Amino acid sequence: MRPAMKLEYAVFDVNARRAEFPLLDQSINAQPLVYLDNAATTQKPLVVLEAIDSYYRSINSNVHRGAHTLADRATTAFEDARARVAGFINAPAPEQLIFTRGTTESINLVAQSWARPQLRPGDEILVSGLAHHSNIVPWQMVAAATGARVVPIPITADAELDMSAFTALLGERTRLVALEQVSNAMGSIHPVEQVIAQAHAAGAVVLLDGAQSVAHLPVDVQQLDVDFFAFSGHKMYGPTGIGGLYGRRELLEAMPPWQGGGEMIETVSFERTTYAALPYRFEAGTPHIAGAVGLGAAVRYLQGLDRAAMYAHEDALLAYALELAADFPGFRLVGRAARKIAVLSFLLEGGHPHDVGTLLDRQGVAVRTGHHCAQPAMTQFGIPGTVRASFALYNTREEVERLFAALEKVRTFL
Ligand code: PMP
Repeated sequence: MRPAMKLEYAVFDVNARRAEFPLLDQSINAQPLVYLDNAATTQKPLVVLEAIDSYYRSINSNVHRGAHTLADRATTAFEDARARVAGFINAPAPEQLIFTRGTTESINLVAQSWARPQLRPGDEILVSGLAHHSNIVPWQMVAAATGARVVPIPITADAELDMSAFTALLGERTRLVALEQVSNAMGSIHPVEQVIAQAHAAGAVVLLDGAQSVAHLPVDVQQLDVDFFAFSGHKMYGPTGIGGLYGRRELLEAMPPWQGGGEMIETVSFERTTYAALPYRFEAGTPHIAGAVGLGAAVRYLQGLDRAAMYAHEDALLAYALELAADFPGFRLVGRAARKIAVLSFLLEGGHPHDVGTLLDRQGVAVRTGHHCAQPAMTQFGIPGTVRASFALYNTREEVERLFAALEKVRTFL
């Protein structure tokens, strides 16, 4: 948590923000919805819904500048969105932001296009013991094809990265460190600046999985000095099916295309095909234009908010939840990292996470249960999964109270 920002809590008008998210205003199982599954996906503000609607109502066309007026407008809307999203993470240039389907596709792109052509037998890819499956499996696939090895970085009992183990693992065989900036299963914020500096000193490239960080922490890829940064639009109040990959220019320019098709070529003949410049060489086929426009609108929305106050608001929700959890009988918090985003992963004594989730749902409280696509982490903690309540900018203190009131009822069923 970031105590220095706490003072700004009072200035974040959460009720005004809630009113901008139409989905939140409904009942589930005859109770006002309490949506606490934000780490899985966030809800969308009206401005995003309207941007997508108006794109399809008045601009829709394929993106190929010069063909006709609507095509020009669609291209402009698509490229404006790219520039806005690139600006949000402070990429040095819009062409260093490749639009993808999301974090998963971004990581697979790097695995197939950067890693696969150059990894050799014995090379090592370090991944976090808390990693989401999408930051494990693509590396295992590349390792199987190249003879490289995927090596997990140990996690402490508090769900923090074990930095001394990481330092010991780093060596001349390390070619890549692929790490989540924030863990989706437990909310831990990793010391990525230190990881990046150490990895670079050892000659390794770093990919950050920003799926859980980009909406909840300030992200500046230049300040981080990171090589690749992958993220998903739907976890930052934008649509599903769109996300991005930022890459360092020299790396992107040296990478062969991953998927072939239209839009990514310069010239094609049966003898020889040449590829388009960045970013198009990595965007084969018709892109998700409406999705990019929606993501651009989500970023504009976030840029219009006092983000320091928003982060402080989320921190305050976590602090309040932890306060209520401390007095709650049988509540076992899983993941006690000193620096966390507002994710509360827990077990309730005597209750399987799925049962707890179902009983919460009956009271209108939506949480995620299970292994959260981080099975190795669950194995390390010796548990089948957890109940995870994850907060976003529109959640309130009353909703934290509703969660604990609902858990109180769940207890009577166990
Ligand atoms: N990494 C992390 C840390 C995540 O939380 C998620 C989504 N749960 C992903 C990767 C995958 O994101 P997506 O499904 O949007 O590609």
